[in-house]
Amino acid sequence: PDQHLVDYMLAFADELGDKPALVDGPSGRTITYAGLKQAVQALAGGLVARGFAPGDTLAVLSPNIPEYAVVFHGVAYAGGVVTTINPMYTEREIHHQLVDAGARLLVTVAPFLEVARAAAEGTGVEEIFVIGDTEGATPFSALMGTPLAESVLVDLDATVVLPYSSGTTGVNKGVMLTHRNLVANVAQTLGAAEMREDETLIAVLPFFHIYGMQVLMNCGLRAGATVVTMPRFDLEQFLQIHQDYGVTRSFVAPPIVVALAKHPLVDSYDMSKLEQVFSGAAPLSAELAIETGKRLGCEVVQGYGMTELSPVSHLTPVGRFKPGSVGVTAPNTEMRIVDPLTGDDVDVNADGEIWVRGPQVMKGYLNNEAATAATITDDGWLRTGDIGHIDDEDHLFVVDRLKELIKYKGFQVPPAELEALLLTHPAVVDAAVVGLPDEEAGEIPAAYVVLRPGSGATAEEIMAFVAGEVSHYKQIRHLEFIDAVPKSASGKILRRELKAKAVG
Ligand code: ATP
Ligand code: MG
Repeated sequence: PDQHLVDYMLAFADELGDKPALVDGPSGRTITYAGLKQAVQALAGGLVARGFAPGDTLAVLSPNIPEYAVVFHGVAYAGGVVTTINPMYTEREIHHQLVDAGARLLVTVAPFLEVARAAAEGTGVEEIFVIGDTEGATPFSALMGTPLAESVLVDLDATVVLPYSSGTTGVNKGVMLTHRNLVANVAQTLGAAEMREDETLIAVLPFFHIYGMQVLMNCGLRAGATVVTMPRFDLEQFLQIHQDYGVTRSFVAPPIVVALAKHPLVDSYDMSKLEQVFSGAAPLSAELAIETGKRLGCEVVQGYGMTELSPVSHLTPVGRFKPGSVGVTAPNTEMRIVDPLTGDDVDVNADGEIWVRGPQVMKGYLNNEAATAATITDDGWLRTGDIGHIDDEDHLFVVDRLKELIKYKGFQVPPAELEALLLTHPAVVDAAVVGLPDEEAGEIPAAYVVLRPGSGATAEEIMAFVAGEVSHYKQIRHLEFIDAVPKSASGKILRRELKAKAVG
């Protein structure tokens, strides 16, 4: 539908009235649908009154709390741009985003006030507002004004949100997403995922990242469901919230699936309301999906996408679960699997680069025309940089990132495949595989493994286990034990950190 994002999001708010839209899981603090609409309109009124013009940018630095949606949609309602900041960022990283995005205002919470103030020095930020406990700072409520009855009409191709990609492969880039992009992708996702009004979702994935922002906050609210927020991941609290609130669908990333499959705590909680676990953002093996599904008594399905795709291009429609697959193309989305060197389509079942075209493709990277031109072709195809193939039922299997394939003596080794295999070993709790430079082979596959405490397994034993399962060129040539695999807030293995450590 061609609509302003917030008109689309709040279309059913009056009808839903007193139904909880967002609930803070730990405290139970609730914003109803009517309350959300009222607060969004009041924030927009306040912003417009202080001269916040269409296209102006407000930054938000906050963990997941119900008020996040008020900030997000209030700014959008006023015709502005929201840039969402990763709460794990350092002062320097926050500063960079504030400058790059050209933020005028900043909204945060008390625990982040100090770093926010320091980061905002020397940027265009005019004022900082604090949600909740506001000792010595301007309260967020000071931004509220006379409710604005109508959304500020902007071009539907105007940027409404400016998230930054995860920076897994290098520097994170500001991704310009428009009203049309977000509305299209919420509709595409809801169409295939069949999210219902009577559902309760758990929002543990961060709202600053496109996955939590769109699939949880926006899809959840448009569906009329109740979204229970969690400020940070803690397995015990995560399970407790499932039990207390009767969570029906759990949107997660692979590190949480690993915990759900392997942690002894899981069996002590009542997860009987859970209908589906939906994993995205990083590779999840068929084995792990099946193991977790058996334990929880529900399907563990996948979706696939990226910040540049608002984010969903593939997902698993109800009834089409296929282990290891990330699903099929979302409605109204086209895909090609292409030889990255020639640009020609490859055959069914053959690996190539995944290209996507549809209304969810970003407008471009902010302040980076060269990167935009290198990523979107003249006829609108987005080159994902990921390698995969489709089977003869149109199911997509993502193999790995083009950039992360290990080149051993001219052979290509996908680290994700070896990580999945390592996780099937009973002594392995978590694992990451990277290519280390090697004079003779070019690169060798090296594994970093977190052992189950007390398992007593040796490096030789685990290397031999892998060697027994894969072709010669995929064997692990070096293995080290570590305490934890470094991961990003969006659940991705930071392979470049391990590489840097190894190479020194
Ligand atoms: P950057 O582009 O800044 O290096 P990033 O690509 O990690 O960071 P995101 O947009 O958060 O930033 O992540 C998108 C990527 O996540 C995809 O390109 C893909 O590599 C990976 N991904 C997403 N879903 C899946 C999935 N189901 N299986 C495998 N990989 C996935
Ligand atoms: Mg990327």
